[in-house]
Formats: sequence, structure tokens, C-alpha cells
Amino acid sequence: MSEPTIFSRIISGEIPATVVWQNERLIAFHDIAPRAALHLLVVPKTEEYENVTDLAAGNPALLAEMVATAATLAAEHANGDYRLVFNSGASAGQTVFHVHAHVLAGGLSEESLA
Ligand code: AMP
Repeated sequence: MSEPTIFSRIISGEIPATVVWQNERLIAFHDIAPRAALHLLVVPKTEEYENVTDLAAGNPALLAEMVATAATLAAEHANGDYRLVFNSGASAGQTVFHVHAHVLAGGLSEESLA
């Protein structure tokens, strides 16, 4: 069996994180290396999907819930405007192969891509 992802270890409580919201399917916490005034990660509790392409094909309703969650959190923690980033593949900057959305808000420049 493969090792749990770092996000599964956060979900299980093994590794601490600053969790801002969760339900049965999703968890949201602050990125440990923020690249904007607000930088949250929205992560499915299942590690079944490696990237957004797999998630869109396998569970589009869960992807839609991630987007709605991002919007809600951006309204609660910033002014409601936000950038949503899914890095897909190592050469695109993905380092954790457990699908997650970067929610970036506040002080964004054109260069501040996650
Ligand atoms: P990506 O590079 O798109 O796969 O994004 C992975 C993100 O996870 C990076 O922005 C990291 O800073 C973040 N990250 C890694 N470990 C932790 C952790 N223990 N707690 C919070 N965020 C983390």
C-alpha cells in the first residue's frame, strides 16, 4: 500500500495545520508557505484523485463543491475576489499528488501565481 499523502496526514490529525473549515468531504487550511495575503488550500478528504483532471472526470460534483467552498472562504477571509490554482503535474509545479485548490486573495500581482 502506498504512503498516505501529506494532506491525508493533516486530515487524520497526524500533522498539525491551521484548519479554517471542513465538512465530511473537504478540508481547508492555510498553506504553510503563503504566496498571497490569503493563501488557503481546499482539499478533498479522499486521496483517490491525484489532480483536477482526475477529479473532474471522476467526481465533478466534488470539484464544484471545491469551487463553491473557495468562493465562500474568499468572502469570509478576504474581500471575495480570489484566484483559484490547480497545479497539475510536476513540471507545472505540483508537489503534492492529492488534488488541492490554492485559494489566493489579497495583494495579488500578475506574477503571484502559486
Ligand atoms: P502544489 O505545489 O500545487 O502541489 O501545492 C502544495 C502546497 O502544499 C504548497 O503550496 C505547500 O506550501 C503546501 N504544503 C506542504 N506541506 C504543507 C503543510 N504541512 N501544511 C500546509 N501546507 C503545506
